[in-house]
This record gives sequence, C-alpha cells and structure tokens, in this order.
Amino acid sequence: MKCPECGSEHCQRYEVINAYGTSMTHSTGVGVGIGSSGVGLGVGRTRGVNTTKMGALTDPPRQLGYRRSIFFLIVWCFIGFGMLNDKLLTGGFFFLACAIVPALTILRRMNYNTKRWPVLYEEWKQKWFCNQCGHSFVDEK
Ligand SMILES: [Zn+2]
Repeated sequence: MKCPECGSEHCQRYEVINAYGTSMTHSTGVGVGIGSSGVGLGVGRTRGVNTTKMGALTDPPRQLGYRRSIFFLIVWCFIGFGMLNDKLLTGGFFFLACAIVPALTILRRMNYNTKRWPVLYEEWKQKWFCNQCGHSFVDEK
C-alpha cells in the first residue's frame, strides 16, 4: 500500500495499529500488612485495557449501549404505573410520558447500531495510516 500523500510504502492498516496499540493487562499484587491486631495478607487483582496514543487514534467505531436507557424506561414505567394504580392519574401519566424519552433513545440507538455502525466499521477496516508522514487514507479499490 502506497501513501497517496508522500508515496511511502510504510503504511499500516488501522486494524493492525489498533491491535498493537491496545493491550489487555492482568496483574495480581500481594500485600502484607502488620497492624496492632496481627498480620494481614491481601491479594488484589487489576484488569484493564492499556491504550497507546496510536491505539486511541485508530479506535474502531463503537456500537451504542442500551443499559442506561433500559434502566430509566423501567424506572419511569414502574413509577408511572404505580401512581396510576394509586389513582394518581396526573403523576402517573406524567411519568409514563417521561418513559417516551428512553424508549426513543433505545430506538434511535438500535437504528444506529444496525444501519450506521456497520457502514462506519467497514470504512474503518479500509483505513490506512502512513508511518512516514502521518497521513490517514482509505483504501479505495
Ligand atoms: Zn505518507
């Protein structure tokens, strides 16, 4: 692959750079503590993702999550139906109307994840980075 900007052949796919720039870390630490009540032993585990600057730059597009919207949808419906059940009609309808917001958010995100995201992801897979001049470009076959 040749860089369209400088003609260099030192180019890499975003996918490859991202894989090198992102690493999973697992570490286990053991600690010993001495206090007035005796000796304590503790084991701690940390896990995470280490990202280099290049790894972050070449991050693939992410799908949108639903967790928060589902949470609010359930909460607003729960309160709304609860109030209707207690004959608090105005409050009940108010909270059910509020539930429309997370419901629409879920629909919008589903639409993005099924229609827009696959396109963005395919574009990302075609992206290249020039190690010579730093130019990013799309491989157009
Ligand atoms: Zn270049």
